[in-house]
Order: sequence, then structure tokens, then C-alpha cells
Amino acid sequence: GLSIGLVGLPNVGKSTTFNALTKAQNAEAANYPFCTIEPNKAVVPVPDVRLQELAKIVNPERIQHSTLDFVDIAGLVKGASKGEGLGNKFLSNIRETEVILHIVRCFEDDNIVHTEGSIHPLRDVEIIEGELILADIEVLQNRADRLKKQAKTDKSAAAVLALAEELLEFLADGNLAKNFPKADSDEYKQLNHEVRLLTGKEIMYGANVDEEGLVEDSQYVLDLKEHAAKNNCELIKLCAKIEEELVGLEDDEAEEFLSSLGVEESGLGQIIQKGFDKLGLMSYFTAGVKEVRAWTIRKNTTAPKAAAVIHNDFEKGFIRAEVISYEDFIACGGEAKAKEAGKMRLEGKEYIVQDGDIMHFRFNV
Ligand code: GDP
Repeated sequence: GLSIGLVGLPNVGKSTTFNALTKAQNAEAANYPFCTIEPNKAVVPVPDVRLQELAKIVNPERIQHSTLDFVDIAGLVKGASKGEGLGNKFLSNIRETEVILHIVRCFEDDNIVHTEGSIHPLRDVEIIEGELILADIEVLQNRADRLKKQAKTDKSAAAVLALAEELLEFLADGNLAKNFPKADSDEYKQLNHEVRLLTGKEIMYGANVDEEGLVEDSQYVLDLKEHAAKNNCELIKLCAKIEEELVGLEDDEAEEFLSSLGVEESGLGQIIQKGFDKLGLMSYFTAGVKEVRAWTIRKNTTAPKAAAVIHNDFEKGFIRAEVISYEDFIACGGEAKAKEAGKMRLEGKEYIVQDGDIMHFRFNV
């Protein structure tokens, strides 16, 4: 499935963050018997307050969240693009993910060595992104060399080659492929499909701060925020150590703990939610007395395809869907009253499911 890859220099808090994600997975593992537990992967529930709101009305036996996959890509260091150590393997692991979560050290702690000798988020980001850019240049150069031969006889290859050369220059200037001005062109899409550019992926920065940093932005965080804004990347502050503690708590305890720190939302929760969105995913709901459940689909999915996420037969025998928007469901106080109020719509095969729709599928067996 779609996944988010965790990268970062050593000693920045990657393992601590990944441990928190793994704890979140294990806390819910009983609900997801279909997920195999792998050491470098965490399948975590996506927080969604709407599920709790629906449950207040429906009183189900259980609630089931959408899930999101995180992959720990430990060990990306300087020189990875030159194949030093296990560098190449890490780069190919990143290639298989869709979004990068880059953990950056913004906390000071004299007891924890910084491999580069000092706290300097922008330098750290440059080291990692530099490696990714170099790796992209290498695969792109290889591709361009082959395109040169094809271009002699093939016009469309010539167009792709021209774009590849432009992109090579752009990367050589230290830019991320995702910010290439022609990233919307067919030629770029074709190239990216072929070589799967590492810097063509969405990036989220996880600024790992200490407790005080959660409330007030340090200069480290401000610098990183500026870099993120310039590069159209998301930045989320978290204190990895605290996240680890938070995961073990009940919802109300966690809320209390957070507010005692002066924070509204856990960083990890924000990372999961933003990551879900960056992957182009959304949830629709089913709300019955057995369970209130979120189902994961890509944005712009038609009703039959959305139904297939529950069961293939739902798509094959699809007749229609009964749909109530989340807002109507809550405002009316449940399915029966929404129906009475005329808020239940009958939708056909072409319907594009909307985020938060409460769906009931009608199908032939
Ligand atoms: P990794 O090498 O990037 O996986 O880093 P780790 O998660 O192993 O963290 C390295 C060290 O920094 C460990 O001793 C962590 O306990 C510590 N650490 C991680 N996050 C924080 C933090 O937010 N504040 C402080 N003070 N220490 C942290």
C-alpha cells in the first residue's frame, strides 16, 4: 500500500518517533488482525474526531479508524548516494514510499551527540536532501544517456530528453524535483514514472523539539519553517520523547497531559493526519450498531470503487448508494432522522464519494 518513509540523520529522534508509531500500532493491533507486524513498518490508526461524534449517536460495539503505513528507513547518511555502506539499499527503500517524513533535530541536549558536531537544522536538511538530489541526478543522467540514442529516431524521446536535461540542471542547482516548474508536464510525469525521483516526492519535516519548544518556536524551528515554506513542504513540530509517553495514555489523559504542556494537538497525530492527506487519501464512514468505521479511499473515487474497499462483491453487484453527509448526519441526529429530513441521497455509479460521507451500499449478490 501507500506509505510514508521516515528519514533523518542519526541521533535526531527517528527511532523514538518510530517507537511511538509502533506503540500506536500495537495498541490497536487487535482491531487489525489482517495487518502483519513487520519490524520496520508501523500501521497506525488515523485520528478522526468524527468517529467519536458518530459513535455518540450510534452507540456501536466498536470504532475502527483508517490506517496509515509508516516505514522506518534508518541509516541515511552522508555519502549514501555514492553507495557507501548500505546507502543504496536505503535509497531504494525510500523510492518505494510515496511521502517522506524527514525528522530534524531541533532540541539541545549535551548528552546526545550530534554526528555533525552541532545543532543546525538547515545544514542537516541540506545533507539529507543533497544525498537525495545526487541520487536523482545519477538515475536521471543514466536515463538521459539512453534517451540520447532513442532521440535520433524518435521525436517524443527527444522531448523527454530535453526535459530531462532541464531537470538535471535544476537539480544540480540544489533544487528538489518536486519544485521543478514543469513538474505538471507529460514529459516530467513520464520520466518520474520511469525513474521514481526521490526528490519528486512530497516531504514533511518533523521538527523534533524539546518541551519548551512545543510552545514557543526556537530559532532552529523558525529557520526550518522558512525552508519548508520556500520548498512548499509541510512542517510539524513534535517532541518525540513526549509522543512516546502520550501513545500509552487514554484519550482524556493524553488531552490533559497535552494541555498541561500548553499544546492542543499531539505532533504525531498531526503528522498522521497530514500524511494521510498528502498521500491523497480520505475516509468515508459506515455507521452501524456493530461498528462505526472509517474506510480509506483515494480522493476522487467513484461509489462502486469505494464499495470495493469493503468487499469486491459490493462493486460487482453495485446498484446504488444511500449517502448522508457527515454534517447532515450529525445535525439531524442519526440516519433515521436524516432520512425523514430528506437528507439521504440516492447516488449511482458515477457518484464521487466525498470525505466524511456516511455510505450504505445496495448491491446484487
Ligand atoms: P535516531 O538515531 O535518529 O533514531 O535517534 P533516537 O530516536 O535513537 O534518539 C537519539 C537520542 O536522543 C536518544 O537518547 C533519545 O532519547 C534522544 N531524544 C529523542 N528525542 C528527543 C527529544 O525530543 N528531546 C531530547 N532531549 N532527547 C531526545
